[in-house]
Amino acid sequence: MSSDTSTADIINVPTDFAQAYVFDLDGTIYLGDQLLPGAKRMIEELRRRRIPVRFLSNNPTKDPEQYVEKLAKLGLPTDIEDICNTVVTTTRWLKENHPDAKLFPVAEEPLKRALRKAGFTLTDDPSEIDIVIASYDRTFDYHKLQVAFDAMWFYKRAFLIQTNPDHFCPFPGGRGEPDCAAVVAAIEACTQMKSQVNLGKPSPIMLAEALQGLDVEVSRCVMVGDRLQTDIQMALDTGMGSACVLTGEATPDDIRGLDDAHHPTYVLDRVDQLIPASAWRELGWTEDND
Ligand SMILES: [Mg+2]
Repeated sequence: MSSDTSTADIINVPTDFAQAYVFDLDGTIYLGDQLLPGAKRMIEELRRRRIPVRFLSNNPTKDPEQYVEKLAKLGLPTDIEDICNTVVTTTRWLKENHPDAKLFPVAEEPLKRALRKAGFTLTDDPSEIDIVIASYDRTFDYHKLQVAFDAMWFYKRAFLIQTNPDHFCPFPGGRGEPDCAAVVAAIEACTQMKSQVNLGKPSPIMLAEALQGLDVEVSRCVMVGDRLQTDIQMALDTGMGSACVLTGEATPDDIRGLDDAHHPTYVLDRVDQLIPASAWRELGWTEDND
């Protein structure tokens, strides 16, 4: 495998397979509406070897089914059990920790739908709400803020959790949309009460939920992503291996600037470098025939 000369000093590829892989999606598997080089054959090869693969996303405005559809359209058919976005992590965490709570999700339909399906009661009666869930909600308005405020501050009953910590959601072309952090900030500002739990990256809760049901050792799994502060930090915090791909946000200079404590286990300039070089040779892969 040859590396781009400009990254040769930082590239560090694995020589063995991990027990399971957890992938970020945007910037790692695809960019916008295109699969990144080598992503398809890499996932297919892992599946052929029966190595579990999970896909993560912090976005709670999509049903897991929408990721299944998107991946299938891109040529990578995927089971719904392999998708773990913050709709999934939030629903599972509540089910495990507060199964009888009455909820007020400041959220769009996909999260509300999943919570109802899991058997939760959703209410906007502030005298009944146990947990306010802040999320990436493009229908957020003053009424929702008032309900959250009354439930937490006036009735002193509810506490606040959040689906993800992102400040904004980036779009191709440089624009973006205010994300969950803006909704959290509004609720925290008026109630003077802090969000208690974050169910998205970089919270270790997300990784634990993603690996649920797999008989694997966390330290022998690898989290693969393009963002140092979320994908890689989460792996470091849980003792999981980490691989940073230079196909999204992190730049070669970001990697060069890291101290040892924040350095990912592996640095790849294409995601199929997760497949060890010995297997590339057996498979007859080159960087030109992905
Ligand atoms: Mg990403």
